[in-house]
Amino acid sequence: MKRVSIFGATGSVGQSTLDLIGRGDYDVVALTGGHNVALLAADAIRLRADVAVTAFDDQLFSLREALAGTGIEAAAGTAALEEAADRPADWIMSAIVGVAGLAPGLRALRHGTTVALANKESLVCAGPILMAEATRHGTTILPVDSEHSAVFQALAGEDIAAVEKVVITASGGGLRDMPLDKLAEATPDQAGTHPNWDMGQRITIDSASMFNKAMELIETKEFFGLNRSQIETIIHPQSLIHALVQFVDGAMMAHLGAPDMRHAIGYALNWPDRAALPVARLNLADIARLDFHAPDAARYPALALADFVMARGGLAGAAFNAAKEHVLDLFIDRRIRFTDMAPLVERTLDRLDGQGSLEAAMLSLDMVQDTDRMTRAIVQELAQTLRAA
Ligand code: NAD
Ligand code: MG
Repeated sequence: MKRVSIFGATGSVGQSTLDLIGRGDYDVVALTGGHNVALLAADAIRLRADVAVTAFDDQLFSLREALAGTGIEAAAGTAALEEAADRPADWIMSAIVGVAGLAPGLRALRHGTTVALANKESLVCAGPILMAEATRHGTTILPVDSEHSAVFQALAGEDIAAVEKVVITASGGGLRDMPLDKLAEATPDQAGTHPNWDMGQRITIDSASMFNKAMELIETKEFFGLNRSQIETIIHPQSLIHALVQFVDGAMMAHLGAPDMRHAIGYALNWPDRAALPVARLNLADIARLDFHAPDAARYPALALADFVMARGGLAGAAFNAAKEHVLDLFIDRRIRFTDMAPLVERTLDRLDGQGSLEAAMLSLDMVQDTDRMTRAIVQELAQTLRAA
């Protein structure tokens, strides 16, 4: 029986993963979550996990109570998350949100565990570290972001050298039809509503700003080892084509499927095989048309920032991710406006670049974490000047 652990089990991707796990025969080793300990405990009991871990120390007591008498271990904190990744497993789902997902994923790779990677922040912050660890330990990272799973599937049996370009699609997010001059007034609730996908709040707002697509462009470069000039994004409002790969002979392979994360999760769970999945089938006659248009740079300034990050390399990804996470927190707390996010990230990157802080010949986890801290402090400082102005 395949031994599996799910990091971020209580989240949107985590719950979709548990839905598939619950339908099959798996030996569940560890489940991790955050504040939602009732759900974490219920899932751990239902799926007979060995251990349940909450990321937050102050939740340990409630988790212990919820698991009392079940024989399931309860643990809490950052170190416990990493220890959960040390437990022997064949496959783990990395679906913690944010840079917090990096360390457990790395630990699992070091044990030779196959890592299904939803946590795109890992690749943006530390792509070269992750890819090198996978190679060193002879293990595989399977992309779970829908676009990257689509590219991965389109590349099956192909030579990456025959790829001319990769196009990842974008829905344009919840504010794509809002007039440009109204964007500054957009609320977290408006930005947190997605036309096609049902996802966690953070990634949904990142879809509206296209910071999510910016992250995914960088993710594409890191995962597939392409040049930035080979990677494009296009707005496709129906979210039915997830990505296209164009080869040197001009052929384009498109991946289509219903917007349901269980596609990409299920592909990674069954890889290298395919198995039946409980997802909707597309009826092309009903769909009738697929639309595309180029993204507007003025509406989506995050895309130009991704280009800077890809050109700069080094610690630019770690800084970009930290700045993006921090401006998102400020926007969710209504401390800055929707349209303040990209300029704040840009000024932060400029500051770090100007002081030489993005340079790094070789990345290490410590450098990534130091950059994360330094970047958040700069965003905080710049946000204050913004409010004072
Ligand atoms: P979510 O907010 O729904 O869930 C996040 C999970 O991480 C929860 O289990 C939460 O308890 C846990 N968590 C939160 N903070 C934590 C911390 N500091 N330490 C440890 N655990 C913590 O998020 P989601 O939408 O499921 O996204 C998870 C990841 O997958 C993100 O990296 C996201 O970008 C990526 N992703 C999500 C989707 C989607 O459809 N939701 C699609 C593609 C990629
Ligand atoms: Mg995606």
